[in-house]
Amino acid sequence: MDAVQQDELNKQDLVTANHILAHQGILDAFGHVSVRSVVNPGRYFMSRSSAPAMVAPDDVMEFDLDGNPLDARGRKVYAERCIHSEIFKARADVNAVVHSHSPMVIPFSVTQTALQPVCHMASFLRKPVPVFEIRDVEGDNNSLLIVKGPTGAALAKTLGDSSVVLMRGHGNAVVAGNLRMAVFRAIYTELNARIQSDALRLGKVNYLTLQEAVNFQAAFEGSDANLLRPWEMWVRELEKA
Ligand code: MN
Repeated sequence: MDAVQQDELNKQDLVTANHILAHQGILDAFGHVSVRSVVNPGRYFMSRSSAPAMVAPDDVMEFDLDGNPLDARGRKVYAERCIHSEIFKARADVNAVVHSHSPMVIPFSVTQTALQPVCHMASFLRKPVPVFEIRDVEGDNNSLLIVKGPTGAALAKTLGDSSVVLMRGHGNAVVAGNLRMAVFRAIYTELNARIQSDALRLGKVNYLTLQEAVNFQAAFEGSDANLLRPWEMWVRELEKA
């Protein structure tokens, strides 16, 4: 498959990814998904401003890494697209980003309890997940929204080399080397948060060690079939719904 064909497949997957993440309760009427262009890695694809469940192929737009649309044709764009632009700028290894307000994760952004891996399927979290504090960049007079380039750049800096960054009192951003992996990670970030919250209510939590997480992640991500299985299941669940 050449780069043009890969971009076409990624754009189709982008529509499906929006629907899966909405169906799985990761995205509600808000949040967005992006995928970097293979043809031009200095650009990425994302829907026009729309509820993710409603996204259709004609909604997919192309942006440069400053968040400028290349062919807007009157379509409204997401206000928080600099989350995506600045992460793509900072992380050459990242080819897909999910920004969501998935609800079980938010408590870990507003307390001293760090989100960290409690189950093997969330091994990609690896270590306590960093939390972005917008007050550190914009002071008390902030809107919680990541709509300014320098704030997006600060978010990307807090993300560092992690797969996930939390945004205090707001949501999170999940990154991966490809779109389907980003969808997988967004779903399992929410699941890990739910399991960790349950475990914390029962008592002291025995977290995965970094070594365990690294080992499982290598085993899991070493086979494309491991990612295809949940993706195909989520697509089937959409078809049935
Ligand atoms: Mn948001």
